[in-house]
Amino acid sequence: MFQKILIANRGEIASRIMRTCKKLSIKTVAVYSEADSDSPFVKEADEAYLLGGSRVSESYLNIDKIIEIAKKTNVSAIHPGYGLLSENAEFVQRCEAEELVFIGPTADVIQKMGSKIEARKQMKKAGVPIVPGIEHPLTDVKEALLVAEEIGYPVMLKASAGGGGIGMQLAYDQAELEKAFVGNQKRALSFFGEGSMYMEKYIHNPRHIEVQILADKSGETIYLWERECSIQRRHQKVIEEAPSVFLTEETRKEMGEAAVKAARAIGYENAGTIEFIVDEQQNYYFLEMNTRLQVEHPVTEEITKLDLVEAQIDIAQGEPIILKQEDILNKGHAIEARIYAEDPKTFYPSPGTITTLKQPEGEGIRHEMAVKEGSVVTPFYDPMIAKLIVHADTREQAIEKMVHALNDYKIEGIKTNIPLLMEVFGHQAFQKGDTTTDFLNRYITVS
Ligand code: ADP
Ligand code: ADP
Ligand code: MG
Repeated sequence: MFQKILIANRGEIASRIMRTCKKLSIKTVAVYSEADSDSPFVKEADEAYLLGGSRVSESYLNIDKIIEIAKKTNVSAIHPGYGLLSENAEFVQRCEAEELVFIGPTADVIQKMGSKIEARKQMKKAGVPIVPGIEHPLTDVKEALLVAEEIGYPVMLKASAGGGGIGMQLAYDQAELEKAFVGNQKRALSFFGEGSMYMEKYIHNPRHIEVQILADKSGETIYLWERECSIQRRHQKVIEEAPSVFLTEETRKEMGEAAVKAARAIGYENAGTIEFIVDEQQNYYFLEMNTRLQVEHPVTEEITKLDLVEAQIDIAQGEPIILKQEDILNKGHAIEARIYAEDPKTFYPSPGTITTLKQPEGEGIRHEMAVKEGSVVTPFYDPMIAKLIVHADTREQAIEKMVHALNDYKIEGIKTNIPLLMEVFGHQAFQKGDTTTDFLNRYITVS
């Protein structure tokens, strides 16, 4: 049994993981950067150690330093959270070599799913529907043009190593594709250190619907329903909900079973998410697998009444999943709104000092916070500073609760996307469930 866990992350997710550790009487070790010295998660840990400078390369991505602290503090396991080192196979190998348990899947599986091309190959082999396209790296623009003719425009050019909405480019015709090829390759190289790209069909007016799975070391795998995450800006999620308003019971079950099949096919263990893109006819296609805890995991926790971090820790300790598929609750409706320190019109980050912070309280309202009153939001990290989660019996009630909560939310000193969130939840199209991935462009005046 784990006595002490190091959390190799920052902000709200570090606090979230520590909350479960406390519940389980597991001691926690935080690691932090200079810019985060005063962050709530540092104070909440039983022990905290400075990693180094504020840039992620000097701190949260410094594998040697993190391992050194883990050894020094005698932890049994490391929880990577999301982003940062959570999908870094080298880090997982280093943990294994040092006999530290990595709370997540094996290095081999992370590597496989980290390459979107390899993931597509594996899913095709397993019989999980993938977005029509190719499963090998494109050699040059000429080949890209030929493939696009075959698939039919519009097409999505994607970096195999891409993530966080970065490294994909939509092209409606030859000229756009030629331009996208060069630009996207450059961006992929600079962000991910790898330029290989593939192409898939652009799905018209789609929804992003993903399935949460849990798998233990023996291969027992269950699904915890879906999350719809179609409200996005720049291919990044802003609002997520569970269950999806769109799926029929039949498609819901089919997608859940497809996700379990996908996880089993690659020998997955721990919590993971299979992302699908779903078209207007409820055809669903595998997009990618995220081999970690997801930002939006709270909506699943709200409808299933399960603690996903606890499940991750149990599985990492070698415990079997005793829950049966038919026992998984799907109760009421949950919505998460990501609160970003950014200009609601331009989406540009808005760093600064939070001079006032007042959060709404009430039944069915949950907060995941990276900041407190007086916190300084720095430009070094993702601008997400909080998540507001509501749960109610029905979707209508959940939306109503969200609108009230956002009305009562006060953050001063920096700009946030709260005005944008209010526009979305107040919009008839959202209320009707017309939630496709181009929602913001279509319905909300964003420049
Ligand atoms: P999730 O897939 O958990 O819902 P996102 O889709 O928002 O989360 O982001 C995917 C991952 O990419 C997350 O782990 C997040 O930390 C990371 N990420 C988000 N934005 C960026 C960015 N601008 N650059 C690099 N990584 C990012
Ligand atoms: P990332 O690794 O950056 O999260 P994903 O492949 O998961 O990249 O795609 C992120 C988002 O981009 C999706 O949720 C969807 O909105 C959009 N997208 C990706 N691929 C397609 C596609 N083939 N057709 C339409 N939209 C797509
Ligand atoms: Mg994705």
